[in-house]
Amino acid sequence: MLRTLLALALALQPAIAADLPDLGEVSRQYFSDQEEQALGRAIMRDVYADPRYLDDPEIETYLNQLGYKLVSVSPRNQREFTFFVVADPTINAFAMPGGNIGVHTGLLLAAQSESELAGVVAHEIAHVTQDHIARMVAAQSQSQWPTMAALALALLAARSNPNVASAAIASTQAYSIQNQLNYSRDYEREADRLGYEMLTRADYDPRGMSGFFNRLQRANRFYDSSAPAYLRTHPLTTDRIADMQARSEAAPYQQVQDSLDFQLVRARLRAQEGSPTDAVLAARNALKEKRYGSEAAARYALATALVRARKFHEAESEVQKLLSAHSTSPMIQQLAAHTALAAGNQALALQRYQAGAAAHPGYRPLQYGHIAALLAAGRNDDALARVERQLSLYPLDRRVWRLAAQAHAQLGHRLQSHRAQAEAAALSGNLVAAIEQIKLGIKAGDGSFHEMSAAEARRREWEEAEKSQRKE
Ligand SMILES: [Zn+2]
Repeated sequence: MLRTLLALALALQPAIAADLPDLGEVSRQYFSDQEEQALGRAIMRDVYADPRYLDDPEIETYLNQLGYKLVSVSPRNQREFTFFVVADPTINAFAMPGGNIGVHTGLLLAAQSESELAGVVAHEIAHVTQDHIARMVAAQSQSQWPTMAALALALLAARSNPNVASAAIASTQAYSIQNQLNYSRDYEREADRLGYEMLTRADYDPRGMSGFFNRLQRANRFYDSSAPAYLRTHPLTTDRIADMQARSEAAPYQQVQDSLDFQLVRARLRAQEGSPTDAVLAARNALKEKRYGSEAAARYALATALVRARKFHEAESEVQKLLSAHSTSPMIQQLAAHTALAAGNQALALQRYQAGAAAHPGYRPLQYGHIAALLAAGRNDDALARVERQLSLYPLDRRVWRLAAQAHAQLGHRLQSHRAQAEAAALSGNLVAAIEQIKLGIKAGDGSFHEMSAAEARRREWEEAEKSQRKE
């Protein structure tokens, strides 16, 4: 009984720690839940359209798995989160309205352990769960930072006016929001404290946090580091470092191993840097000199770089070594299939996708690859059957909708192809494009009665949503 009560108390109020400043209730005067969600969707539309957005399903999937592992142990996890990767060599991570958390590739590469990466992500999650952004926007429209409210309004307006020029402006604004928002010391301490709790509960090494911040600070002191934006928005005070150190010292020592996927993601990023020839050379040297955290990841980097350099025979021999070492990551299965496909061996690629998807049924990047390979092989009905199964499981997956559009197009289903493109556009936050596509589909008029009326219903739904957005 006592244990149950204790557990209940912990579950209900774990965030209120004795040394936490009371930051009070969130002001909803300027920022309702709906407004924040709408703003979040508008931001993601601009992010997806931004060339710096890293459209890599494997790296994005990894980051979302890590993020949700932390969210699931957060005391306040009722929100939806979207974690995405920005191709930018500087060390940065940022939270934006609507639970959208961006991580720079520079941070993924600079983290010396998975726990360090998790520490930074947990800190950002805490900024979201504690409504720090909404609070700052609310504070801003009242007092010293008038630009922030203007930026938020510009973003809200831009989402119903997605012409190229304003999308480009909104995108710049979305990214500069983080630079306008310098978290206060109290917010930083709260995010550190809650981030630390998430790290411990998710079985990461809580020392990851202090180690990383210490290095950031040292780097920043001695030379022009690659982390100025992060340190400006998350002011690193001596208090914060002292708090982190005290918590770390109190934590029981435990060795936490990095996951293979963490190493593979970094290997994948490194193998894509620079020219293919340089990437091959760097990967070969690292493997030869045993400069790696994991041999499988080093080999994965070499194979990836070899495919880039179109040295398919050598790539295949590295892939075979990886497969015979029984590494279980779906990323390795994906690389094996991708290598076969790049080398022009469609049959082997399909066989590897099939095996990979069977071994990792919940891993969506393998499904995307498999469907794309089926479409490339002209096996349109098989592709469509897989698309439909994926959509029944994940109806909000814009990548599957894009594949659906391709499958229907190859099968000559014009209405259904436009409908699928429309769904993908709507899921990327672009209602205007969605309406345009669904109208083209209805005009094509080659669907069944049921498909036509479903398309009509969708058109009405999106037009209404778009109209009400414009009114706001
Ligand atoms: Zn912060």
